[in-house]
Amino acid sequence: MDLQLSPQHLAFREEVRGWLAANADRPWREVLRGSTATEDSLIEARRVWQRKLHGAGYLGMDWPAEWGGRGGGPVEQAILETELIEADAPPILNTLGIGLLGPALIHHGSEEQRRRFIPPMLAAEEIWCQGFSEPGSGSDLASLKASAVLDGDDFILNGQKVWTTFGPWADWIFVLARTDGKDRYGGISFILCKLDTPGITVRPLRQITGESEFGEVFFEDARVPRTNLVGEIGEGWRIAMTVLAYERGAISFTQAVQYGRDLGRLATACKEIGRTGSAVREKLGRLLVENEVMRANGIRTLANFADGKAPGAESSIEKVYWSEFDQRFRETALDLLGPGGQLVRTSPEARDDCDWARQFLWSRAETIFSGSSEVQRNIIAKRVLKLPQDPR
Ligand SMILES: Cc1cc2nc3c(=O)[nH]c(=O)nc-3n(C[C@H](O)[C@H](O)[C@H](O)COP(=O)(O)OP(=O)(O)OC[C@H]3O[C@@H](n4cnc5c(N)ncnc54)[C@H](O)[C@@H]3O)c2cc1C
Repeated sequence: MDLQLSPQHLAFREEVRGWLAANADRPWREVLRGSTATEDSLIEARRVWQRKLHGAGYLGMDWPAEWGGRGGGPVEQAILETELIEADAPPILNTLGIGLLGPALIHHGSEEQRRRFIPPMLAAEEIWCQGFSEPGSGSDLASLKASAVLDGDDFILNGQKVWTTFGPWADWIFVLARTDGKDRYGGISFILCKLDTPGITVRPLRQITGESEFGEVFFEDARVPRTNLVGEIGEGWRIAMTVLAYERGAISFTQAVQYGRDLGRLATACKEIGRTGSAVREKLGRLLVENEVMRANGIRTLANFADGKAPGAESSIEKVYWSEFDQRFRETALDLLGPGGQLVRTSPEARDDCDWARQFLWSRAETIFSGSSEVQRNIIAKRVLKLPQDPR
C-alpha cells in the first residue's frame, strides 16, 4: 500500500484546488445558517452545485469516459472529495443515483440503459431514490413482497416501499420486486420506475429532525416497460448486493477528513465556553484517536479500490465503525457543550455553526440505514471472519 500521492495525483489536486478557488460558492455552512434556507431551497442549491461540478468534469470520477465519467480512479475521487470538504462545498443532490445506481448500471446494466440513464443522472436532471425496504422487510430484505408481473411488454407493479430517502424529490426509483413467488432470492428482479407513472404515489415521512427527507412509495397496478428491467428476471438480488456493497463501503478516508474538521470546531467551541479541563481533553483526544483508526481503515479500502477490487462484505466493517463512531462523536459533543449544544444552526446565539443537536438526532439513524449494526456484525462474522454458524 503506497500512501504517497504520485506526481499525477498531486497535479490533479492542484487542478481541483484552482478550480474550487475560482468556482466555489458560499461555504455550505453559511448557506445552512441563512434564515431563508428551506428544505426546497437547499435541494435546489445542491442541484445547482452538482451541475457545476458535472460541467467541470468532476462527477463519475472513476467511471469510464464512454458513460459520462472521467475515466479516473478512486484516488482521484478521494482527492476530489477531500478538497470539496476543505472548501466546505455543498453536497451534490443525486447521491443515490451516482453513489448506488450508477455502479449497478455499470456492472449489470445494458449498454442502452447506461446511455439512457447515466448522463441525466450526472447532470442532476433525473434524481433517483432507492426502493428496497418495505414495512416488514428491512433487515430480512429477501422477504420483500412488492410484486412485478409481466403483461406483454410491461411489468405491473404492486406493493409498498418505505424509508425511501429523497422519495419526495426524486424523479425515478430503482425497485426490488418479486417476479417469482416461490424462489426467495432468485425470485427478485431490479426494475427502474419513473415516479410520475400512474399508479405510483409518494408520501413524505416527517423525521425526528423535523425534515421530510424520506418517504413511502405505493405501487397500485403501475405499468412499467420491461426494458426498465436491469439484468435478467430473477437477477435482482445479485444486483442489490452490488448496490449495498457500494452503499456500505463509502470511503471512510474522506469521512475522516470531515470529522477532523468537525473535531476542530468542537474543540474551539469547548474553549470558548471555558471547558478545557483534563476530562474534556481526554474525551476530545479519544475521538481524535478513533478518527485516526477510521482514516487508516479508509486508506486500506482506498488501496483495495485502487487495486481494482470491488467492495465486498468487508464494507460492513466500515459501516459499523463510522456509524457507531459518529454516534459517539455527536453524543460527546452535546455532553461537552451543554445547553449551547442544543441551539439550532439558525439561532443567533449559536456559538458555532455545526448544528450539534441536529447532527445528534440524525446520527440515531446511522446504525439502522444500509443495514443495522446487528446485521452488519452477522455479515462480518459469516462472510469476512467465516466463523462457524450456530447449527440450531
Ligand atoms: C434514515 C434512513 C434512511 C433510509 N433510506 C432508505 C432508502 O433510501 N431506501 C430503502 O430501501 N431503505 C431505506 N432505509 C431502510 C433501512 O434499510 C432499514 O430501516 C434497515 O434495513 C432496517 O430494517 P427495519 O427498519 O425494517 O428494521 P428491522 O429489520 O425490523 O430490525 C429491527 C431490529 O431488529 C434487529 N435485527 C433484525 N434482524 C436481525 C438479525 N438477523 N440478527 C440480529 N438482529 C436483527 C435490527 O438490528 C434492529 O435493531 C432507511 C432507513 C433509515 C433509518
